[in-house]
Amino acid sequence: DSTSFAVRVAPLGGTGLILVLAEDQTERRRVEAVRRDFVANISHELKTPVGALSLLAETISDASDDPEAVRRFASRMKHEADRLTSLIQDLITLSRIQGAEPLSEPVEVSVDTVVEESLDAVRTAADTKRIELVSGGVRGLTVMGDEGLLITALRNLVTNAVAYSPENTRVAVTVQTSDDMVEIVVADQGIGIPPQDLERIFERFYRVDAARSRATGGTGLGLAIVKHVMTLHRGEVTVWSKEGEGSTFTLRLPRTDSPEPPGSTGNYQE
Ligand code: ADP
Repeated sequence: DSTSFAVRVAPLGGTGLILVLAEDQTERRRVEAVRRDFVANISHELKTPVGALSLLAETISDASDDPEAVRRFASRMKHEADRLTSLIQDLITLSRIQGAEPLSEPVEVSVDTVVEESLDAVRTAADTKRIELVSGGVRGLTVMGDEGLLITALRNLVTNAVAYSPENTRVAVTVQTSDDMVEIVVADQGIGIPPQDLERIFERFYRVDAARSRATGGTGLGLAIVKHVMTLHRGEVTVWSKEGEGSTFTLRLPRTDSPEPPGSTGNYQE
């Protein structure tokens, strides 16, 4: 990568001297490119379900004398509309945590509640695939932050664990501590993630297999949201995975009783 500089020439009032300022353009260009890609990606992701809805609406009006076909098309329209809703919901969450709105004051959040609420959200999906959901480990721990965002982050992980696992497997959520951190570990016995994709899966809209992700209702934003929520809480998310064996995602958050508690105002980072 080459670095490029923009040179700005500023006269120093009345002295006859000029000041030459070199500004690093590389970072600015990179940020602009990321923003352009993001908008292009959003447009593409929105066009797909809207295009499908439009086609289905045409088809359904041609099939009005066949009630069975109408029912089938209507159910596919519902599916596409649900996809749009999840995508819009994820975009709202992302823009909120990226600073579009001030966050609420951090409060003490029960890790048990975060785990229970997240598991409740995937129970039906897990039952359908006969996936066993288990939770265990240390109880009664707390962290500082936003309960809703922490539930969203863990729910995204368990939703993926169920979505990318075959039938009759197990998804386990375990809470443990390490030094002054709380660890919430989500382990599945699913398809796993190829090593070359591992470091990219936290990028917005990055998917290992786009068709599979869409088929399971994925928006491609889930892990980007998890990463941002962890940053806001001065935590981190890490992943271990082996293809055909499964994946383990770990959320690590400062314990409330840690020697260096997170700040009490604004963004939770400082
Ligand atoms: P998506 O909505 O596509 O699931 P995410 O941001 O949540 O988007 O995840 C990005 C990609 O990472 C997924 O498309 C999938 O390829 C991969 N992935 C995430 N979690 C898992 C998992 N538990 N097992 C296998 N692959 C996963």
